Amino acid sequence: MEVTLLGTGDTTGTPTVGCDCDTCERARELGVERSRFSVHVRSEGGESLLVDASPDFRSQFLTQGVDLPDAVVITHVHFDHLDGLGNAYRLVPYGESIPVYAAGEVDPATGESVADTVRSRFDYLDRIDVRDVAPFEPTSMAGLEVTLVPVEHPPLASYGLAIADPETGGRLAITGDTSYAVPEASREALSGADLLLADAIVPAALCDRHPRGGAHHDEDGVPRTFGTKHMTREGALDLADELGADRTRLVHAAHFYPAEEAFAEPLAVDGETYSL
Ligand SMILES: [Zn+2]
Ligand SMILES: [Zn+2]
Ligand SMILES: [Zn+2]
Repeated sequence: MEVTLLGTGDTTGTPTVGCDCDTCERARELGVERSRFSVHVRSEGGESLLVDASPDFRSQFLTQGVDLPDAVVITHVHFDHLDGLGNAYRLVPYGESIPVYAAGEVDPATGESVADTVRSRFDYLDRIDVRDVAPFEPTSMAGLEVTLVPVEHPPLASYGLAIADPETGGRLAITGDTSYAVPEASREALSGADLLLADAIVPAALCDRHPRGGAHHDEDGVPRTFGTKHMTREGALDLADELGADRTRLVHAAHFYPAEEAFAEPLAVDGETYSL
């Protein structure tokens, strides 16, 4: 499979609109961007799966030149992962629809499943065909075998993804938006991939700027979770160690990384491609 990182930023992206911080200025100088989260996966069989529908959908597809998707999977219903789905109006010819996969289990925070929320938010769009997926059950999407696994992103239900190409055996793991408290069964499903994309919103040193501080501290007291919703860089690297992927890229990064750390390895930027 061919993996293209369409969007590697957090919900404001880097550069952030109207921001002149050193990190946003450095991104402009380097000509790099971290738009809102999305990943394009082209299977060996030639079909394409879009992981999350970024509000930056249009510019991502114009910039990266990837094929339009044959299917979409949505990890959770935050704006930066879902709102690009409105582009389906232009994606699919009149009278046709595109399958949009999402977890079918009820989210206690919303009283709906991710699939239900996608259906209700886009009820005006007859060109999307929302299909319920059961967590931990491998499901065929665009020629790929995809398993949704629950992660922790309170208060919403959120899912990581294990994606395998049945033709090549290539494996991609995506943590999704999550704290470090990924359940054990989900860790197992995400382990041993060729490439891991891990949520790493900020360095642990910035936890004192969050009203909730940090959580899930390591033995040296370093927080692996920023607030309650996302992993720190240190937490993401610890999880990556445990999951043992051949290669790890840190994604969903905020412009709050100090400029001298923001573009260092293994933090991803938009447009990176991987062959698995
Ligand atoms: Zn900035
Ligand atoms: Zn989120
Ligand atoms: Zn997000």
